[in-house]
Parts: sequence; structure tokens; C-alpha cells
Amino acid sequence: MPIDLVISDLDGTILETEDYHRRAYNVLFRELNLSREWSEADYKARLATMGGAKFDEILPWLSQPVENHVETCRTLYARKTELYVDLVVDALKRGDLAPRPGVKSLFKQLIDSGVGLAVGSACVKWAAERVLQASLGKELVSSLATVCAGDDVKAKKPDPAVYLLVAQRCGVEPRNCFVIEDTRHGMEAAHNAGMRCLVTPSKLAKGDVFQGAAGELESLEGIGIQDLQVFWEKC
Ligand SMILES: [Mg+2]
Repeated sequence: MPIDLVISDLDGTILETEDYHRRAYNVLFRELNLSREWSEADYKARLATMGGAKFDEILPWLSQPVENHVETCRTLYARKTELYVDLVVDALKRGDLAPRPGVKSLFKQLIDSGVGLAVGSACVKWAAERVLQASLGKELVSSLATVCAGDDVKAKKPDPAVYLLVAQRCGVEPRNCFVIEDTRHGMEAAHNAGMRCLVTPSKLAKGDVFQGAAGELESLEGIGIQDLQVFWEKC
């Protein structure tokens, strides 16, 4: 059975960005005059709690009582996202950050060969698109079959919603999609969608157990379509 569509996660898979989320939270804490700072270990412990849910922890730290919990979370999450995108785009411009090894080469091969390539990210759409363009270039991004983001669906990974939406938009069966992920909860989202998953653990996900993965690779360096096919058929 051929691979109809490759779906890549963004954060941690295309770019080692997970630590920029941590840094963005720390900048936000400074803006809010909170004497808090999340270390890498602190942040890793919170990785399973995606997106705005982290603010359930942060809100009680604020000096003023919060009247509208939902609205405050939304405002703070939006600000944190702006800070995150600025940090990532600046780092890309400076050359301090680049796509992980092998990503661009594999993506170009997939597009040139006609195998569909899409992105399914927990990030909000505008941020995902800006980071994708800054890291992969406009031409490659314009060749993506679709970009589905966290605000396109109601539930976040490990819920399969974002991956199922990608498959639906592209008109392919979930069982014919091959997902590339960097974390266990991302891999679980793929599995929950009935998709096979190749894992390239990001720094913060190293040491996690990826039971049921089609393969676990240090990076995508040197990986071509034929290698993907080998992992696909092994699973
Ligand atoms: Mg990720």
C-alpha cells in the first residue's frame, strides 16, 4: 500500500522550537512582573499540557484577582504566542535556528515526487504559517497540501482531531497517511487517528518511549522517500 500523504508536525519536528515556547513563557512572566522562570525541566514536565491549559497554573500567580478566567487565558495565550513567534522568527533571521537536519530535503523530495505533504500543528494558525514561511520559505509552504492548526479543531493532541482534519481536507484515508512527530503525545495523536507515525524526538522528548512507532530516528538527515517507504511497510 503506498503512502498517500505525509503529515508533519511543526514544533519540535520541523524546528527545535519547544524551547522557544519555554522562553516565551518566561518573557511573559517578566512582562507580568512575576518572579517565576521555567527551567527546561520545569517546562518538560508541562509538555503534556498543551496550549492555553498551562494558564490554569499561571493565573493564580497574578497579583490581581481574575474576573474572567476564559478571557484572561485567551489574552495571555495570544500574547505568549506573539512573543514565541517573534523569538523564533528573529532566531531564524539571525541564523541561530534552522530546520532540523534533513527536513527541507525530504519535504522537497515529497513535493517533487507528487506524494502529498501537509502540516498538522497544535500551534495557532497564523503563528504556524508565519513560522513555516520563515523556516521553509514561501515556495515550499505554498506547495503544502494543507496546514491544519490548533485553532482549526476543538481538541489538541493526543486527540486525533488535527490529523483527521488534514486527511479529510486532502481527501485521503487516515490509514494511508504517514505522520512525522517529535513527542509521545504527538505520536499518540497520529495513532489515535489510525495513522502510522515515524518519530524524530526533539531535545525535550529524548528519552521518551515511543511504543508502536514505525521508527525512531535521531533526525531526518539522509532520509528519502524510499526510506520512508521501508519504515511504512515495517509497521
Ligand atoms: Mg511537536
